[in-house]
Amino acid sequence: MVSLLTNVTNKLLVPVSEVKGIGEKIEAQLNELGIFTVHDLIEYAPFRYEDYRLRDLSEVRHDERITIEGKVHSEPSVMYFGRRKSRTVVRLLAGNVLIKIVWFNQPYLKNKFEINQIITVTGKWDQHRQTLTAQTWKVGSSRESDSFQPVYPIKGDIKVFEMRKWIQQAMKQFSGEIDEFLPEYMLKKYKLLNRRRAFLALHLPQNEQDLKQARRRFVYEEFLLFQLKIQSLRKIEKEQSGGKPIAYSTSKLKDFMNSLPFELTSAQKKVVKEILSDLKSPTRMNRLLQGDVGSGKTVVAAIALFAASTAGFQGALMVPTEILAEQHANSLFDLLQPHGVEVALLTGAVKGKKRKELLERLKAGEINVLIGTHALIQDDVEFANLGLVVTDEQHRFGVEQRKILREKGYHPDVLFMTATPIPRTLAITAFGEMDVSTIDQMPAGRKQIETYWAKPNQLDRILIGMEKELQQGQQAYVICPLIEESDKLDVQNAIDVHALLSQHFHNRYKVGLMHGRLTSDEKDEVMRAFAANEVQVLVSTTVVEVGVNVPNATFMLIYDAERFGLSQLHQLRGRVGRGEHQSYCILLADPKGETGQERMKIMTETTNGFELSERDLELRGPGDFFGKKQSGLPEFKYADMIHDYRALETARSDAAQLIESKAFWESEEFRPLLEKLEESGAFAAKSFD
Ligand code: ADP
Ligand code: MG
Repeated sequence: MVSLLTNVTNKLLVPVSEVKGIGEKIEAQLNELGIFTVHDLIEYAPFRYEDYRLRDLSEVRHDERITIEGKVHSEPSVMYFGRRKSRTVVRLLAGNVLIKIVWFNQPYLKNKFEINQIITVTGKWDQHRQTLTAQTWKVGSSRESDSFQPVYPIKGDIKVFEMRKWIQQAMKQFSGEIDEFLPEYMLKKYKLLNRRRAFLALHLPQNEQDLKQARRRFVYEEFLLFQLKIQSLRKIEKEQSGGKPIAYSTSKLKDFMNSLPFELTSAQKKVVKEILSDLKSPTRMNRLLQGDVGSGKTVVAAIALFAASTAGFQGALMVPTEILAEQHANSLFDLLQPHGVEVALLTGAVKGKKRKELLERLKAGEINVLIGTHALIQDDVEFANLGLVVTDEQHRFGVEQRKILREKGYHPDVLFMTATPIPRTLAITAFGEMDVSTIDQMPAGRKQIETYWAKPNQLDRILIGMEKELQQGQQAYVICPLIEESDKLDVQNAIDVHALLSQHFHNRYKVGLMHGRLTSDEKDEVMRAFAANEVQVLVSTTVVEVGVNVPNATFMLIYDAERFGLSQLHQLRGRVGRGEHQSYCILLADPKGETGQERMKIMTETTNGFELSERDLELRGPGDFFGKKQSGLPEFKYADMIHDYRALETARSDAAQLIESKAFWESEEFRPLLEKLEESGAFAAKSFD
């Protein structure tokens, strides 16, 4: 891309010392805060405002910080106690109420007031004593323009009031130099303040309206720049992706779809269409497929893999665990093999001669679809013509794997499937560089899982309920948060619970134990025994969270449910309700806080994963949603992804339109916006995989 930054002289890109009054010492203090230029200073945003609006005494609460105006009614009286301590009191007529104003340790105020003088005082209100303890005050009436004072984040020696002073001074000298970079029509369309007026409203608000308008402008600006950035990256990536069209056979695909044992839901049809159009296109697919547990993602993957095979391409399905690999292999085998698609499973259990043989057939192109853990794209595994990679549980497939593929010369289309419903706002921001397809509908006839929240002292009754299910030939999961007791956390431990239940069901039902400390052979054996109904109750840590399918299990008890996030509880709960029988999920929890109680309630109210994820996001905030480290979420200065989500949607579709339009890249009107983008590094070289 040609540099657009020629001939631009930004008069704000001068040292802060250009602001009147800022000398070396202040400059150093500002530098500490990352403020070097006047531009930095002007862009330094307040994080809140102090409210100095006049209040009516009839509607203020005890202990509130308030501002009032009144007439001095008595000479100040000063009372000393000790050598340095004093208390100055003035009676003030505020409206028609006579109150006391108190200053501590400012005896010199004695001569400052005259009877009948108007003063404005801000301080803490004592309702019972009808007394205001003054923090700040001034002679005269209050002005509307004093209503809101910005509070800036500071550290080191600088004080908030100083920060205010320097920023206001900078605005006085330099606000004329603040340039707009959004095109005029956008400001008009959304009734946004121009950039100069927005900064004035931000730093020197005259009223509440100013605060709102400034914020609106900056939120949109922030979202638009962000969206333009990720979407242009996506465009560039697509153009350089080395993808190839997968010309599948429409007629074979039609036959295959007609042979399915059920009719696709309309949500499935919609995502199939999106995926097929990606396959056909010469650019590489980079798509996230999200759908709640049980929404039927596997068959969608099967359709994509089948389509690729009709065009002569091989496909791979990667899953996080061997248990899952086997499950998927079974269902794909049933679906695909009858149509002449060769399906193979590659796990750690495939060894020696069998493995060698399998790899040879893969290399020769005799295997069409290979299923396994992520090991299947590594080491000595070579495909003849890999065209499509599907991964289940997208977060486990990372940049590293894609690099390996690229190094082997493969540029396959990639479809990430996840059962963790991602709230829309997060999908837009965190996965902005991906296309997202959503299955937002369940196959018909599913029974809702009945969910109850119980306290630990109700365990006896819960076990009676569990036994009823067992008597009818069903099975049960019991989930515990950790495997070892920790005194500090006081968590239930799977081993103890296993011992307790083994004793409880002694001679009647078999209780199995599953946790992360078992070897994978031991895990497989436990799962096999449970799937074969040799074990009726499975006590487990969260290892069963992902994808495990035992339709005969209809009862789940979750210990210490308050320790799990809503999304995780939802995943766990999804292990039951997979067969034709009514299923139950009991949350054993005694949360102390309000949020914890709210979360348990939400779980009992809905089984819709998307609704849960939205509410989880509201309760936990975006940072916690994915876990701090892997969140990869951008930090916004003004915007809040949850509350400003309409603006985010708007900015997203505006950005999409701009990126695709010729005018955006070529016309004068958008030049400042492009410059701004380039300045923020949007087009900087990024290595694509
Ligand atoms: P998940 O999205 O959790 O991976 P699965 O693909 O395992 O869900 O599907 C869950 C169950 O629903 C499977 O038994 C599958 O055969 C069945 N299923 C999928 N789609 C439909 C449909 N359109 N109508 C009826 N049953 C379906
Ligand atoms: Mg699945």
